Amino acid sequence: MRPCFHARLINGPFDDPGLFIPFLFQKRALLFDLGDITALPARDILKISHVFVSHTHVDHFIGFDRLLRLMLGRDKNLALFGPPGFLKNVEGKLAAYSWNLAHKYNYPLSLQVVEVQRDFTLSRQYRCRDRFEALKDAVQQPFDGVLYEEPAFKVSAVILDHQIPCLGFSVKERFHVNIIKEGLKRLSLEPGPWLSEFKQAIYNRTDPAAGFEVPTTGQSGKKKFALENLANQISRISPGQKITYITDVVHSSINQDKIVKLARDCDHLFIEAVFLDKDRQLARNKGHLTARQAGELAARSGARQFSIFHFSPRYTDQEDLLYQEARQAYERMI
Ligand SMILES: [Zn+2]
Ligand SMILES: [Zn+2]
Repeated sequence: MRPCFHARLINGPFDDPGLFIPFLFQKRALLFDLGDITALPARDILKISHVFVSHTHVDHFIGFDRLLRLMLGRDKNLALFGPPGFLKNVEGKLAAYSWNLAHKYNYPLSLQVVEVQRDFTLSRQYRCRDRFEALKDAVQQPFDGVLYEEPAFKVSAVILDHQIPCLGFSVKERFHVNIIKEGLKRLSLEPGPWLSEFKQAIYNRTDPAAGFEVPTTGQSGKKKFALENLANQISRISPGQKITYITDVVHSSINQDKIVKLARDCDHLFIEAVFLDKDRQLARNKGHLTARQAGELAARSGARQFSIFHFSPRYTDQEDLLYQEARQAYERMI
């Protein structure tokens, strides 16, 4: 199976956390946490459509300015999600600049900002052409754990404890559409951007009998199929991919239960491991996990793969110890 999401940590384990998830064959990406993003090329930053911020400690939110700077003057709708107080945090950032010329940009940037509370969300729009002033009141909607959803995937969130509320996230593909190369060859079809449209038609539950046109190099320039017929010949459906992102959490039993539930059976768990277990008292005081705790949570969740990050600088040049401790804890339990 060729995964749809190619998740990667933006920085090394001692630098700011951040998970970048570009979509296969699409100029589109999700970003989890908004710390230092200077390692991300501008062309990748411009693919981002949705940003999910765990909490607004500076190492998770200082990248807002770079993101805003690059997106200004572009025809973009950017959605940002964050913990309680997030609307104020974003408004504070926007209030730091003078926007008297902002309405003159040809292409207007618009920010849709969503603040997650325990059982509701508050969302508000800030548009470049309105000088980023919120013209309408925040809209309240019920929140049942699913933060964002579209036909191909959904993002769930849970509020965790980090001595302040901190969000953990899971992104789950509804199912996976695998393209079969031999099927394409048999029908003499060339892979191309039309495959994204084809997958989207399946996710959208388009009428199976509906016609679907595939561009070809032949004289007519296209071939027409019934969607279901084409799907049977060139694709197979398999379970969707699930990726979970957990950072800045204290090792309380309530947090552990919520994390295990959110990350259940994920393909890849990205989880912080700030301290070694010999310093677990320090980890508790600072509201973080140890590498051992991270490995145990990965095993308890049934994560098929896991990666640790957000190492304390006190372990500079000793990162092997953190990887080893997490790996051993995981293997002891599976
Ligand atoms: Zn923090
Ligand atoms: Zn942090």
